[in-house]
Formats: sequence, structure tokens, C-alpha cells
Amino acid sequence: MNTIFSKIINREIPANIVYETDSVLAFRDINPQAPTHILIIPKIEIPKVTDIKGSEHAELLGEMYDAANKIAKDEGIAENGFRLVMNCGNNGGQEVYHLHMHLLGGRQMQWPPG
Ligand code: 5GP
Repeated sequence: MNTIFSKIINREIPANIVYETDSVLAFRDINPQAPTHILIIPKIEIPKVTDIKGSEHAELLGEMYDAANKIAKDEGIAENGFRLVMNCGNNGGQEVYHLHMHLLGGRQMQWPPG
């Protein structure tokens, strides 16, 4: 399955990239829902949360959380806090079927989410 995020990984379409390692990429969301809205994705294609296998992907997920913490610090939102979201499937509101973590911050978040 080739999504728009694969094209961003392969530099076939542009994105505002803020962080990159051999296995993880992070870039600003094209339609930001908060002053800071960054998507953190694995470079391998995992479509959604239900495709994650702990035995296989634990290290990769750890790297995604490390990325989130580093980016939050760089963006100056670590101290006041932020929200990490992974939408899964139709009811979860997922639109792009390449695993991604939303890093949202820079304003007060509300609960419950819509
Ligand atoms: P989802 O609803 O799947 O959890 O989130 C997908 C996110 O990807 C949305 O917030 C949407 O704005 C973002 N997005 C979709 N297409 C692009 C794109 O081409 N570039 C960037 N930077 N973000 C995108």
C-alpha cells in the first residue's frame, strides 16, 4: 500500500521535515490543528495501530516516542505539555493508512476529543 506518506519519505512530494533518523521521519501537518502539529511516522509501512506487533516493532515505537520528546523540546512545548494521538481505522478518524503519531501542542487541549 503506497500512501502520501510514502511519497514524503521518498521525497516525491515536499514536506516540512523537522526530524529524521534511519527509521523515523517527522514533518509538520499540512492542516495544523494546534500551533504545533507534527506527524511522526515510521519509514516502514505499517498501515495502522492494529498492525503493530510488540515483538517486532517495540524498538521502532520507542524511537517514535523518543522523537516526540525531542521535537516537543525543540518546539518549546515539553514543559507545558502536549498531546500524542494515533487514530486507528474508520471510527478512530484515520485518513492516511501509514502509521503516524500526531504531536499537538502550543495551546490548551480539550477533553473529551471530538
Ligand atoms: P489521520 O486522520 O490519518 O490520523 O491524520 C492524517 C493527517 O495527515 C491529517 O492531519 C492531515 O492533515 C495530514 N496530511 C494529509 N496529507 C498530507 C500531506 O500531503 N502532507 C502533510 N504534511 N500532511 C498531510
